Amino acid sequence: MLTDAVVMDGLGDVDVLRYRRTEIREPASGEVVLRVLATAVNHLDLELRSGASRMPLTFPHVLGREVVGEIIELGQDVTGWAVGDRVVVLPNTPCGTCLECTTGRSNLCLRGFMPGITGWGGYAAHMTVSARGLLRAPDVDPVLAAATPISFGTAWRMLYSIANLVPGETVVVAGAAGGLGHAVVQVARFGGARVIGLVSSPAKTDFVLACGASAVLDTTDEHWPDQVRELTDGCGADVVVEHIGGTVFEQALTSLARSGRMVVGGGHGGEHPRFDVIEAFRNEYRVFGSRSQQPHEVARVLQLLADGHIRPAVDDVLPVAEAARAHELIAARGVRGKLVLTP
Ligand SMILES: [Zn+2]
Repeated sequence: MLTDAVVMDGLGDVDVLRYRRTEIREPASGEVVLRVLATAVNHLDLELRSGASRMPLTFPHVLGREVVGEIIELGQDVTGWAVGDRVVVLPNTPCGTCLECTTGRSNLCLRGFMPGITGWGGYAAHMTVSARGLLRAPDVDPVLAAATPISFGTAWRMLYSIANLVPGETVVVAGAAGGLGHAVVQVARFGGARVIGLVSSPAKTDFVLACGASAVLDTTDEHWPDQVRELTDGCGADVVVEHIGGTVFEQALTSLARSGRMVVGGGHGGEHPRFDVIEAFRNEYRVFGSRSQQPHEVARVLQLLADGHIRPAVDDVLPVAEAARAHELIAARGVRGKLVLTP
């Protein structure tokens, strides 16, 4: 069928994002066609577009990793879904058969379907997708549902699947005003933790407090780990969620309590920070990597959204035809929370 989509014929600047009529494929066995209701823009989309992500794309290509839609057509052998159902497309649909998938680590699957990367995503009015990659959408504004899976699903993974956070612990969140950071603040508060947010600009303090942090510290003051100790009776942070790297990583290690856990999910600010081995073993610091999300983690945060426990910050909603402008706004770092595209 014909649809309107933002199609890329190659890598490059925002002018490779061209809105035009295009043909999408008929649903094969096990697939459905969606009418797209909302698609969130991720920073990764900019890196996929420019080639900086180094992930191979097949052209023509359509971006869009976080999609909410309504089923308008069922392929053969689709069970459990009906025309009219509202769905969230999983950002990562595991293959289900590889070693990682069969041993409970499907977030590490390298053979799964990733909309907007391994196939066409949601920068379009319609999308053909496997029914295996769908979750039932919560009964909320599709714009909010589209802004939830990646940031909040990752937050859930970091805090509960990896760090085993329990109520009463203190969590320090780096980049607390960003897409991931503001999600970590909310998901940690939901679990009864006390949250200390880190920002690089005092202008973001009120936003982070409104997300549920009980204190906000400025990382441009290198003594912020001392302030964490003051706020915790000298103990330090039980859990640090770190995705900045560089000096923030180095300082964050010194903010940990004895046997504290640090979960690492990014490093744009410096990929090779110094690491004090002596301090690490004497204090039994635990440092974990975190990659992507599993379907049950996305389902969990969609339920939190439905129940009103979390609310993604949506800076603006733009027509999908203006995807290039959305990329420019994100590149200019003027966006607080998420940008979402609608047809
Ligand atoms: Zn797999």
